[in-house]
Amino acid sequence: MAGEFDLIRRHFARATPATTLGPGDDCALLTPSPGQTLAVTTDMLVAGVHFAPDADPEGLGWKTLAVNVSDLAAMGAKPRWALLAGALPNADDDWIGAFARGFFACAARYQLDLVGGDTTRGPLTLSVTAIGELPAGLALRRDGAREGDDLWISGTPGLAALALAARQGRTTLPATLRSACDTALDTPTPRVELGLALREEHLAHAAIDVSDGLLADLTHILVRSALAAEVDLGELAPAPEGVASALWHDCLLAGGDDYELLFTAPSAHRQAIAALAKRLALPLTRCGRLHAGTPGALSVRNRNGDPLTLTRRGYDHFG
Ligand SMILES: [Mg+2]
Repeated sequence: MAGEFDLIRRHFARATPATTLGPGDDCALLTPSPGQTLAVTTDMLVAGVHFAPDADPEGLGWKTLAVNVSDLAAMGAKPRWALLAGALPNADDDWIGAFARGFFACAARYQLDLVGGDTTRGPLTLSVTAIGELPAGLALRRDGAREGDDLWISGTPGLAALALAARQGRTTLPATLRSACDTALDTPTPRVELGLALREEHLAHAAIDVSDGLLADLTHILVRSALAAEVDLGELAPAPEGVASALWHDCLLAGGDDYELLFTAPSAHRQAIAALAKRLALPLTRCGRLHAGTPGALSVRNRNGDPLTLTRRGYDHFG
């Protein structure tokens, strides 16, 4: 077994140019840039819970790192380092090689060094810790939202959940849409450039990445900021052709796995945010407003401006 795991480690041995001391000692040694605070996050993916056991290993390698990078993006942090721990049922060289390709494609894209990790035999489970940095005191925190802030969302939320619905046979999708949805679910794009720009240009008061669903993650901001919000469904993308509007609204508001950024900003920044959207070639949609009220209270207006009855606020892994 030792030989097998040596083989695995070889797939993950890469240069770590931004690291004082990389893998190979008892600890890695990391040196933050002067004046920077470290942002640290960890996330675990379990086969059968977070991904299908037969998922494409290269996509899984990307996603395992991308979901952690997304948390760094949500704070406005610049990604720097990652650690990877995995339990594997067996040491399948092809599977590991493909997983490593996807993982390092994401690491190269967002300039992280893999500085350590561990492997053991067990049911397929993957855990990444990602570390980023940002100037002290300037993080985009969940508790930073203010009364009267606009609510904004990046990209097109709902596509990842729509892919899942298609895989579970709850809808059928035309080929082009299906492929866009599969990409959103399998190889999500963490919005690092957006998070950095929002923080550097002081455009946003609070941010979160949408992993559990737009309303569920919005609730986290509202509770931490002690505010209420009104979401305007009419501002978000309408149901794609051939998709039932009830299913689409569920995907849009309660579907997880999008990794778009949901952020709040003062209305004085509307033009600057529109300019940023253009510069990043990334849609940024104003979709609601925060107001004083019971912390976490939410109302959603449908496309006619009428209140919508909410059935669920997001995907609950234990539900
Ligand atoms: Mg998050």
